[in-house]
Amino acid sequence: MKKIAILGSTGSIGVQTLEVVRSNKDLQVSALAAGSNIQRLEAQIREFHPGLVAVWSEEKAKELRLLVGDLSVRVVSGMEGLLEVCTYPKAEIVVTAIVGMIGIRPTIAAIQAGKDIALANKETLVTAGHLIMPMAEKYGVRILPVDSEHSAIFQCLNGEDRREIRKLLLTASGGPFRGKKRSDLEHIQVEDALKHPNWSMGQKITIDSSTLVNKGLEMMEARWLFQVEPEDIQIVVQPKSIIHSMVEFADGAVIAQLGTPDMKLPIQYALYYPHRRDLPGERLDFWKLTEITFERPDMETFTGLKLAFAAAKAGGSMPTVYNAANELAVSWFLSRRISYLAIPEIIEWCMAEHRVVPNPDVEQILETERQTYELIESRW
Ligand code: NAD
Ligand code: MG
Repeated sequence: MKKIAILGSTGSIGVQTLEVVRSNKDLQVSALAAGSNIQRLEAQIREFHPGLVAVWSEEKAKELRLLVGDLSVRVVSGMEGLLEVCTYPKAEIVVTAIVGMIGIRPTIAAIQAGKDIALANKETLVTAGHLIMPMAEKYGVRILPVDSEHSAIFQCLNGEDRREIRKLLLTASGGPFRGKKRSDLEHIQVEDALKHPNWSMGQKITIDSSTLVNKGLEMMEARWLFQVEPEDIQIVVQPKSIIHSMVEFADGAVIAQLGTPDMKLPIQYALYYPHRRDLPGERLDFWKLTEITFERPDMETFTGLKLAFAAAKAGGSMPTVYNAANELAVSWFLSRRISYLAIPEIIEWCMAEHRVVPNPDVEQILETERQTYELIESRW
């Protein structure tokens, strides 16, 4: 029996992780954490019987305690609660499916408690990858990628010598606005940006996919996971999301991982690594598929991707500025406070204002996040 804790159990990845658990009798849920959807949490508690559950606000935690008063589950709240879930002695592996760099402290706590990490929460690696990867090595825990592209690369690297990697080829769908020019993007509304061509995901990552900021975050995620330089990561647009990513090796061989777009595959792969299990669902039919096409990403229109390479090159605290500015800008766009094109503008402006702190520790990363928010709030 493999015991798992899930951070962000009510979200897109969290719910799909529970679907994987539902169809595998040797997985057991020991702890869950979520933001505020206590109705969904209650249903999850009744079905999966975790011993510990964390809800972000204490008020919602109180409500949940009443709802599940007939069960023996303990309900905790706030950052303390999240940390408790991450270090829960009964869990062996923590699925980090929470959204945003709020995942930094919980992920570190889980590593220090010796838990393997099935990592979906890319913002944590983007901002603190230089701390997390050596820490995982020190504590002897595995960081198992859940993001589909990173899972693909991880699968391509099975049995390979990582020193022989020459290039990571990170594929991108191009998002719903592929082929559009800057002037076409001026009047994009929230509803337009929330329509992803191939994947159904949480709101924040769906907006990030449309601006290509998601690919920028994934480039930085990949550089830490696989220890490569940003210039050795090439972004390849492959609109149907059939090739999930590829690796080019020293001898010029390119290995790719393909499949239908279904996040349950990378989730299940992370939970059972290095084994594969049956997974019901559609299979690729190459007779029907007939072609796979490739394009170069348009970084002049989607400047969020270009800025990600600049942030990675600047290093230190700059990826935190990139990420924090994007997190706030996306939440403002979703609440219709700013226009679509203001998202990359805000990121660019915050990066231009920032003096890089080299090799920041956790406190400096969180301080950079605060400063970035203050800067945007004071002047935008
Ligand atoms: P989502 O918005 O659907 O879900 C986020 C989850 O985090 C929810 O359960 C929410 O309650 C929880 N949460 C948010 N703030 C919290 C807080 N303060 N305390 C406790 N819980 C909190 O997001 P998602 O699409 O599932 O994405 C989650 C992460 O996985 C993101 O980092 C995203 O980039 C990454 N990811 C998602 C997909 C996908 O297909 N959805 C694919 C690859 C990577
Ligand atoms: Mg991805």
